[in-house]
Amino acid sequence: MSLIVQKFGGSSVANAERVFNVAGIVTETYDKGNDVVVVVSAQGDTTDDLIAKGNEINPNASKRERDMLVSAGEQISISLLAMAIEKLGYPVISLLGWQAGFQTSSAYTSARIRRVIPNRIRKELDKKRIVIVAGFQGLSKYDDITTLGRGGSDTSAVAIAAAMHADLCQIYTDVEGVYTADPRKVKNARKLKDISYDEMLELATMGAQVLNNRSVEMAKKYNIELEVLSSLVRAPGTIVKEKSRMEKMLISGVAKDTDVARLSVIGVPDEPGLAFKLFSKLSAKNINVDIILQSIGRDNKKDISFTVGADRAEEAKAALADYVENIGAKEIVCSTDVAKISIVGAGMESHAGVASKMFEALYDAQINIQMIATSEIKVSVLINKKDADRAVSAIHEKFFEE
Ligand code: ADP
Ligand code: ASP
Ligand code: MG
Repeated sequence: MSLIVQKFGGSSVANAERVFNVAGIVTETYDKGNDVVVVVSAQGDTTDDLIAKGNEINPNASKRERDMLVSAGEQISISLLAMAIEKLGYPVISLLGWQAGFQTSSAYTSARIRRVIPNRIRKELDKKRIVIVAGFQGLSKYDDITTLGRGGSDTSAVAIAAAMHADLCQIYTDVEGVYTADPRKVKNARKLKDISYDEMLELATMGAQVLNNRSVEMAKKYNIELEVLSSLVRAPGTIVKEKSRMEKMLISGVAKDTDVARLSVIGVPDEPGLAFKLFSKLSAKNINVDIILQSIGRDNKKDISFTVGADRAEEAKAALADYVENIGAKEIVCSTDVAKISIVGAGMESHAGVASKMFEALYDAQINIQMIATSEIKVSVLINKKDADRAVSAIHEKFFEE
């Protein structure tokens, strides 16, 4: 007998028919003699709708109350799935995050899982029940409901798999696995048989929403193999694991992130310490910076540009207002009209010319590059937002279709 964790995303439980479809998958797994723990997200667009409802009442509401509101989405879906499974005649129980033992930090709306104490889940499994757990939520040390950030149910599933030493962790979604690019946008995107944690982490962080990046981080840390597969089409999915035995591919995927902003501090005096001061202002506010570009000093002045998540752009600008004035820089300019396109692949560590191939694809499509950043297994460029989809297609074609 094995312990299997299965996670179903919002589209997999979007309506009654889909809920019964999931109930079918879960009970089939149970019928094979397995212990089954199921993690579910809110139905369809429920989380977006709840956020919009909150904003209608008070756009400046506290994060605590926002978490109280959006966590309700998963309460609906777990109970509906449990009701469907009851109807099929199986023993089942639904549990909220706190009942399932999810203890988190108190960073409302982006809480981190501190630990999962799965005593209640174990007790229910011992009673031979199928256990349905609300994804995306937990409890802070103040006994307040927290949520884990958008897409957080993936992380809930991996956390349970880690805490309970599950034999298998399946992430069911609305596509058949992890592809070389978003299969909804790039028609020739190919399904990957497997992918390493490191590559998947980069792809997820760079915008491939099929897995939440924190879930991949956690899977790597606890060495949990993930299978990403479709809840609607029966086909083998993609295995995410330590080392991929993939047919040697130069890159494993192209990702797009349009939730990004570029800030430029213009006319910074060309002297030591000013970059340090700038970025320490941002780190004090916990604002993550990604691509950084500093121009060569000229007339004792230089420009420093960098990217942040679009949702932090105003905050970053405000955090730097004093800095700009104190050091006598000219101004700070912000643009959200940008997109970050990345290629990811362990193959590029040992191959020259990968970046230039990407730039060639952009040149062929007459797309201008504003900024570039590279790491061992990734190249990212910042471009105009309107060119984003075209850029992904052009790059995908260059690497996978020529
Ligand atoms: P769920 O509701 O199941 O959590 P998400 O919407 O969060 O599903 O993630 C699945 C979506 O991720 C797919 O519908 C697809 O459009 C998108 N996606 C983006 N990049 C990729 C990729 N490289 N491979 C597969 N799907 C991707
Ligand atoms: N329902 C949450 C969201 O929409 C969590 C998730 O889907 O993983 O972000
Ligand atoms: Mg998701």
